[in-house]
Amino acid sequence: MPIIGSEWVRQVAIVGSGPAGYYTAEAALKLWGDEVQVDIFDCLPVPYGLIRSGVAPDHQSIKAVSRRYEKTSLAENVRFVGNVMVGTDISVAELQELYDAVVLATGAPRDRLVGLPGEDLGNVFGSAAFVGWYNGHPEFEALAPDLSDKTAVVVGNGNVALDVARILAKTREEFDGSDIVVNALNMLEASSIDKIVVLGRRGPHQIAMTPKELGELGHLHRASPRIEPADLPEEGEDALLEPGQRKSVNHLRAYAALGDEDRAGKAIDMEFDFFASPKAILGDDRVEAIEVERTKLENNRAVGTGEIYTIPTGLVVICIGYQTSPIPDVPFDTDAGRFANDDGRILPGLFCVGWARRGPSGTIGTNKPDGFGIIDIIAEDIGTGSGKQGPVGFDALAAERGLNCVTFEDWQKIDEAEIARAREGSPREKFVKVDEMIGAAGKG
Ligand code: NAP
Repeated sequence: MPIIGSEWVRQVAIVGSGPAGYYTAEAALKLWGDEVQVDIFDCLPVPYGLIRSGVAPDHQSIKAVSRRYEKTSLAENVRFVGNVMVGTDISVAELQELYDAVVLATGAPRDRLVGLPGEDLGNVFGSAAFVGWYNGHPEFEALAPDLSDKTAVVVGNGNVALDVARILAKTREEFDGSDIVVNALNMLEASSIDKIVVLGRRGPHQIAMTPKELGELGHLHRASPRIEPADLPEEGEDALLEPGQRKSVNHLRAYAALGDEDRAGKAIDMEFDFFASPKAILGDDRVEAIEVERTKLENNRAVGTGEIYTIPTGLVVICIGYQTSPIPDVPFDTDAGRFANDDGRILPGLFCVGWARRGPSGTIGTNKPDGFGIIDIIAEDIGTGSGKQGPVGFDALAAERGLNCVTFEDWQKIDEAEIARAREGSPREKFVKVDEMIGAAGKG
């Protein structure tokens, strides 16, 4: 058992219980064994961050990584401390008083704004909000997108754009086995969308979509990808691509070769509009069309050609990347949309990891070396513990402030309740309101 507050036990606070946070905790345990005490904070009463609220609900195999994080949480010297908003309930400076190292693993939960005229019109959403809606994130569960127009436009050529387009295209049955929240499922089932336009400002060779995810489009029940063959470069040029990207482009080539007979019975057209940069979103109160400029590549950059056209649409989802939320008094790099840091170091004793350190790139697994890397840096900086109070001090402060902290055992009760109320074929029916989560934990 670690001796809390002793000179040799390092007190580490991790803010954020997503992949970056959990890999950091795992690395701390691996390096220091029981000579460390780790508190993992989250603003929600439920853990796992992006795994729960970002990874697509029909990608359950990716979500299964949470079992590994659960193992970390069950270690004697690790605590999950949910329902605590760092920056509001407790400041970073206060955490630093209590812990030898404070690691911000808060991800990038905000949309990067594209700055388009009309971006604030009704039924225009950023991907954080839209993905949060179908994944039941309490902040976005009430989003209620209007899916009654026949055309939807998805801006971006990354995996998130692909997730959003696929979710819009799926039938109710195709969500069997997923944990999409029932409200979103019902609304998607009633959707009138029969055309999904995916706008990419550059071309097929520049997509940021990965092969497995692109391959899924070939198996959708009622939707078929449509690609203009003329948009594809000469086939010989594919040899210049790295292998993963070549596989992705192979999928695009296969989709470009589809004929009318292949599309028979597919009511939804998923049209990839390459070399197409959004210029403005048009409408009075809500989106009625999107104005687009045709582009060409110059030095691998999209350059406008002056050719402008409009796509009538009642729904726009902008999937162009994310940014980290600033925290009061923590240096922030506004241009990069993440904490200002030098290889994870923000200030003495204050660190960041994952998307909060490097921006929103890479897969879930990329956070593993990131988490292990930051613990090596922390080890260099702090040596052994310095007798800080860690959990004992935090608990005293939480009691003084009346914080209703959620423990890992509390989360296990929420987890059980979500599993127990799952509809048939679904692993869980998530609670989408913080109050419901707290209630299920028996702490209402
Ligand atoms: P992303 O991979 O960075 O893609 C962003 C896309 O937005 C790019 O196509 C980019 O085009 C485009 N874009 C940026 N600014 C634009 C603008 N002003 N106008 C038009 N288009 C613009 O970001 P993401 O899709 O949000 O994904 C974030 C990370 O999560 C990625 O690492 C992704 O692979 C990962 N992820 C993985 C999965 C999975 O593995 N299943 C699922 C979801 C997300 P340019 O290339 O021209 O800049």
